Amino acid sequence: MPATPPDIDLTTGFLNRSGGVHAAARAVADAEAKGAALAVLWLDIDRFRQINESFGHVGGDHIIAQLATRLRLALRSDSVLVRMGSDEFVALIPSLQLPMATRIGVMLLAEIERPLAIDNLLMRPSASMGLAVLEAGEDALSLLERADRAMIEAKRRGGNQLIISGDERLTGRLGVQLAREELAIEADLHSALESGCLTLEYQPLVGIDGRIEAVEALMRCDLPGRRLLPGKFIPVAEKTGMIVRLGEWSLLQGAQFAARLRDEGVPTKVAINVSRAQLTSRNFAPALQAALICANVAPALIELEFTESLFLDLSDIVQANLRSTWLAEVGIAIDDFGYGYSSLSNLKDLPASKLKLDSSFIKVLPEDRRAYAVVKAMAMLGRELGMTVIAEGVETAAQQAAVEGAAVDAVQGFFHARPMPEEAMLAWLKERTTHAP
Ligand code: C2E
Ligand code: MG
Ligand code: MG
Repeated sequence: MPATPPDIDLTTGFLNRSGGVHAAARAVADAEAKGAALAVLWLDIDRFRQINESFGHVGGDHIIAQLATRLRLALRSDSVLVRMGSDEFVALIPSLQLPMATRIGVMLLAEIERPLAIDNLLMRPSASMGLAVLEAGEDALSLLERADRAMIEAKRRGGNQLIISGDERLTGRLGVQLAREELAIEADLHSALESGCLTLEYQPLVGIDGRIEAVEALMRCDLPGRRLLPGKFIPVAEKTGMIVRLGEWSLLQGAQFAARLRDEGVPTKVAINVSRAQLTSRNFAPALQAALICANVAPALIELEFTESLFLDLSDIVQANLRSTWLAEVGIAIDDFGYGYSSLSNLKDLPASKLKLDSSFIKVLPEDRRAYAVVKAMAMLGRELGMTVIAEGVETAAQQAAVEGAAVDAVQGFFHARPMPEEAMLAWLKERTTHAP
């Protein structure tokens, strides 16, 4: 039913509060009938009273009208827009699940923040935003109330941010607060997982004798027109707990690639990175087993890379997970060794068979003789402990010569190959085997 004129706010052309409440009830009934999703974004312009005081009511209305236009242009045409109060807006967006709604919320915050010209002044408005997604059996008032409460929380935290009602995804399961950029990354990750935009690239670890020691799986998140690198998204995934899902995904993908390399006649170990949140989860050992079984691959073809900081706190669960990895005969590598808090006392007790020396020692070679001395000593230490020692980040022939001089067993770096997509990695390996000495 189209809104009748008394339901319309004249400044913005949006529904007014009473029209909005009716529209929300209709949208909820509609969503429930179709079994579809419904998202509500509640926005409140930050410091609006101050804006009104500075520019007067006419100026204030002008700003509201401009911000309303931005909202209208940024949202899908089936969204219902409401002016709830002097500086408060609500958007009802049908068929929108949480990940995409979060993304849209973040996008709206950015829209609002674009500079706005008024009286020869350029102001930068901002808003506090609350997001709620309809829950089963919920009525319109409760849905609106949750979005409002989330908005108030966003304001309490200083404004210019989005808070999600309900499962408090923003504060995250681990109770951390995400900054705006992190929130956008989280939303990107959710949609990448759903739309299959996550991939693994592979980079070879090449033995000094030319043998291929393994290929390392490196996660990539390709969104339309841009690529997010792990350095950006892994920390966010770790904060929000999403890393557990991503990690299970890469375990399975990596294991399947190992099976494929075997079937294509170039059997090669695949090394998969594992982060702390995975290793502290009770689900870790079953997920590893599941990946091996689903991919139908021998454990000897899989290696897990753990950063050394993981070994700082060897809680019972971490120890149990390491033990079951070892018992499953899956290889264990210590990644980025020497970068953080290398603990030699831990090193001697770990069931690892590979030590990867952090690239920070390699990138200063060959000039830095002290770094060279450290690399040489670490290589000797690793070997004495029965580990294969890898130098990470070798980019030049001079660095290659230096790490050979330091007697590492193998190297990984752009000098040999950059990380590459699955098909390219397969072709690279086949090419090397046919031309092997
Ligand atoms: P990492 O495990 O130490 O991986 C090696 C990183 O060094 C990769 O960065 C690789 O692209 C880069 N690299 C290799 N050779 C060179 C070189 O010669 N020069 C330079 N400048 N860089 C080189 P990437 O792919 O950006 O990954 C960064 C980190 O993100 C990884 O460091 C790893 O800790 C993490 N990561 C990547 N994929 C996953 C994953 O699937 N799960 C988890 N938990 N972490 C991942
Ligand atoms: Mg690694
Ligand atoms: Mg590394």
